[in-house]
Amino acid sequence: METAAPSAVIVAIDGPSGTGKSSTSKAVAAKLGLRYLDTGAQYRAITWWMITNGIDTDDPHAIAVAAGKPGIVSGTDPAAPTITVDGLDASVPIRTQEVTSKVSAVSAVPEVRTLITELQRSIAASAEGGIVVEGRDIGTTVLPDADLKIFLTASPEARAARRSGELRGKEATDLAATKDALIKRDAADSGRKTSPLAKAGDAVEVDTTELTLDQVIECVVTLVEEKRAGRQ
Ligand code: C5P
Repeated sequence: METAAPSAVIVAIDGPSGTGKSSTSKAVAAKLGLRYLDTGAQYRAITWWMITNGIDTDDPHAIAVAAGKPGIVSGTDPAAPTITVDGLDASVPIRTQEVTSKVSAVSAVPEVRTLITELQRSIAASAEGGIVVEGRDIGTTVLPDADLKIFLTASPEARAARRSGELRGKEATDLAATKDALIKRDAADSGRKTSPLAKAGDAVEVDTTELTLDQVIECVVTLVEEKRAGRQ
């Protein structure tokens, strides 16, 4: 595996959905002049490709056979992250309820994880100046040597409320249903055999339940700056 330039800082931010992971990761990367990678978007993109190409997402073998076919490209500018599949902009279709309900099954297939993990490592290795990578298994599996690992948590109630707020206006948002769907997805992501959602032993845990987004961003920026200062 290649490594980024010595001054580059690699930050892994993991945690379940609704903890403010994406907003925090993007803002921290923008503030510190780092690149940004949303690994959930990559798993959503491969899921979207499976659905649009008629692959049965309940059939792990069919998913494994097709896993190498889509060409997924992530743009890592935190001000305007992009995701394309075979050259097509996938940023909107990967956020539908259908993709959200099927992504855990697709991302549990080991062949999918191997391919996407390789892609993530090569993006991180070529990110000049460093990168913030957000996901579920970044600190444990994808980038175990990251300079800083953060694990974001929040109560299920807070997470469901945030998710409903994000979805408002786009799709029907029933708070109880959002909470149920979120808990179900966490259970699937935490319970799968291959690189489940987990906190790395050396990750700093930040409970965001009672914090504003700005407070979480400030907390993570401070942790990155301390890390950088300690390396000089
Ligand atoms: O973060 P987001 O909600 O967009 O992630 C969508 C799904 O992608 C997760 O529920 C999980 O199944 C999968 N995922 C994963 N590993 C990652 C990031 C996301 O398995 N590193």
